[in-house]
Amino acid sequence: MHKIRVAVLGAAGRMGLNVCAAVEAAPDLKLVARIDEGDDLAATLASSRADVAVDFTVPSVTEANVHTLIDAGVHAVVGTTGWDEESRNRVSEHLGAAGGNLGVLLAPNFGLSAVLAMTFAAKAARFFESVEVIELHHPDKVDAPSGTAMHTAQAIAKARADAGIPPSPDATQTGQDARGMNVDGVHVHAVRLRGLVAHEEILLGNPGEQLTIRQDSFDRVSFMPGVLLGIREITARPGLTVGLEHLIDLS
Ligand code: NAD
Repeated sequence: MHKIRVAVLGAAGRMGLNVCAAVEAAPDLKLVARIDEGDDLAATLASSRADVAVDFTVPSVTEANVHTLIDAGVHAVVGTTGWDEESRNRVSEHLGAAGGNLGVLLAPNFGLSAVLAMTFAAKAARFFESVEVIELHHPDKVDAPSGTAMHTAQAIAKARADAGIPPSPDATQTGQDARGMNVDGVHVHAVRLRGLVAHEEILLGNPGEQLTIRQDSFDRVSFMPGVLLGIREITARPGLTVGLEHLIDLS
């Protein structure tokens, strides 16, 4: 059987260690490189002959890593946060310039419960006057709000804009800092608390009623089926794909 050759970037990190173990346990995948800070990425990719690289590093290096992967002809599956429209556009352009055969998957969340929560929230968003997002994480997380919460808020905002729904009502005149980050008109709040892993709540309100959509990731193993799906699918998906929801039939 032809095995997909996989390199892991950020291999010594919390997610990287889990990804290495999951790849080693998968019969159709072969772990060919564990790469972390200080390693020569281009040289290691060349010597390991990786087909796909998985990036769980830090926001400050992930884009540069992806450009190095494209230059090396390696498909990328990226879970690291910190991406914005400009950095995504630069990757799209680079993929086009590289001949259009390579694929990059950027997934703010590889957990099925998170992908479903975001999908349900976007579906529900046009039926409610108000919507806010709360994300809750362990206090060792370096960025806020989480990429998942940003992605969720953007999906909600798009669904509301498409349906012509006005912004959520808000009479706040003082203390704007306490209202969280405004992401395309949707307020996002970030909680950091020892004992938590990764959690998200979407609150949707109408006069006299509320819908709460909540997902909880208790263990990083919950992300591994999504990461392995990304590794298996990305070689047949040229260009940039943003979000695991595009690899799962949610119709
Ligand atoms: P971590 O701090 O435990 O691990 C990051 C690793 O990257 C470290 O081992 C560090 O040494 C390494 N690193 C730093 N610079 C590097 C470089 N230039 N090249 C290679 N490796 C380098 O962090 P973590 O908890 O594993 O999370 C990593 C990222 O993944 C974060 O951005 C986090 O928000 C994100 N994350 C995403 C998902 C998802 O489902 N998409 C899930 C969990 C975490």
